[in-house]
Amino acid sequence: MSPTPPDRRVQRASHMDAEAQVPVAIVGGGACGLVAALMLHDLGLDCVVLERDAQPSGSTALSSGFIPAPGTSVQRAAGVTDDSADRFSADIQAKAHGRASPALVTAYAEAIGPALDALQARHGLDWVLLDNFLYPGHTRHRMHALPQKTGAALMAALQSAVEAAGIPVLTEALVHTLWLETGADRVIGLGYRRPDGQEERLACDALLLACNGFGGNAQMVGELLPEMRDAAFGGHVGNDGSAILWGRELGARLRDLGGYQGHGSWVTPQGALMSWAVMMEGGVQVNAEGRRFHDETQGYSEAAVHVLAQPGGVAWNVFDAPLLKLAREFPDFRDAEAAGALRRCDSVHALAQCIGCDASVLQATLAAMGPSPQSDDRVFTRALSAPYYAVKVTGALFHTQGGLDVAPDMRVLRKDDGTPLPNLLAAGGAAGGVSGDAVWGYLSGNGLLSAVAGGAIAARSAAAILGRATQGE
Ligand SMILES: Cc1cc2nc3c(=O)[nH]c(=O)nc-3n(C[C@H](O)[C@H](O)[C@H](O)COP(=O)(O)OP(=O)(O)OC[C@H]3O[C@@H](n4cnc5c(N)ncnc54)[C@H](O)[C@@H]3O)c2cc1C
Repeated sequence: MSPTPPDRRVQRASHMDAEAQVPVAIVGGGACGLVAALMLHDLGLDCVVLERDAQPSGSTALSSGFIPAPGTSVQRAAGVTDDSADRFSADIQAKAHGRASPALVTAYAEAIGPALDALQARHGLDWVLLDNFLYPGHTRHRMHALPQKTGAALMAALQSAVEAAGIPVLTEALVHTLWLETGADRVIGLGYRRPDGQEERLACDALLLACNGFGGNAQMVGELLPEMRDAAFGGHVGNDGSAILWGRELGARLRDLGGYQGHGSWVTPQGALMSWAVMMEGGVQVNAEGRRFHDETQGYSEAAVHVLAQPGGVAWNVFDAPLLKLAREFPDFRDAEAAGALRRCDSVHALAQCIGCDASVLQATLAAMGPSPQSDDRVFTRALSAPYYAVKVTGALFHTQGGLDVAPDMRVLRKDDGTPLPNLLAAGGAAGGVSGDAVWGYLSGNGLLSAVAGGAIAARSAAAILGRATQGE
């Protein structure tokens, strides 16, 4: 995490001298920024993406790259024909205990399918449907990924598409100042810094903040998510809270700042993600005493808090041979295994030795797995059998879900009266998400859902702000 808070300012002036003028400026070259840029291109509008890194990656490249979407051509081709935006919305709200903005949930659930179809048809992103298990809270198979099943592949595909479309991406451009017209809330441009310290300015007619949240800002995490203060951060250092810092200065409304994506399966000490699919299909988490401590099927996000509350802040993912086969389908797991994270134990006794717990306690934990509901209500269709496999994990913060409050068209709302600012948009992790205001509200895929759907919606809204019709898109 960044040690010092970043300098983010809002400058008010009647005019701003700039090196160049562009219809739409986009701060951040992750999934949100690049999807918005591609959709703007498809609408015939010019934009510039400004990215602080030399090579755009963001949290998107660190992610698994799984995107939930109902009603895509790929989902239908896989035989899932009874999914819909309404069903998806209901799943999002059920996980968020009804505390997500209904209008935003509907907007994302309706936009994401067409966005994935458009990325496939127009920009060559060939999705596959992950249909061999259900993520917690999803009632239909709707998780899409590129065949490599990595966020790195997703970023590479988006970057190739952006390059092919000839969209300018200004790298090593750290945006620090938003310029607003005096007496109005209209953005007129932005100021950014080059690695050699040189200051430059870009004027724009509309601005999209696609710079994600504050997971990489230790001070803000300590202030807003105290339970994650000491947790490992699995996201990108560029998630430094820029959008919220600007929002606070310009009088924007903030929302759901206590919402975030945690993960209870962050392999330690290797620092890698182990897929939760293993838990959903029958694996368990036990603590250093050999006891289960929560219903793993509730979700990996809240599992982060449960794991951190165990002795030493760690747990062991315990599973067997059929689940090892499933785990190995995920590149992240294969990397962790190659880094030495996987332990094989031929008996409960050996497993207890590996964990460092009492064998009789562990034996009782494993023997209790069966069709009768556990004390936490989880029901197992089968018990695990030897050989056992174990991976040591901890709880991590992946990304924050709180941010600038936006209307369903992604325009940033004013704090005072909730009306939209005229030409400032925010999407992806820069905007408040659809997970409510706590860790348990995060439905798998809500991160890239808001990045991709939000980017697509923001592009249409930017076109509308600039007076360009979007009918037929
Ligand atoms: C390990 C891990 C696994 C995950 N897996 C999934 C998953 O499978 N599915 C899912 O839905 N979500 C997942 N997520 C969450 C997901 O990665 C994020 O929600 C998503 O990538 C957000 O996209 P974004 O475009 O908003 O942000 P980012 O991808 O982080 O992009 C933001 C960009 O803005 C740039 N930037 C920031 N500030 C500035 C500035 N001031 N000036 C210029 N540039 C700036 C950053 O450098 C960065 O490139 C995962 C996260 C992690 C950490």
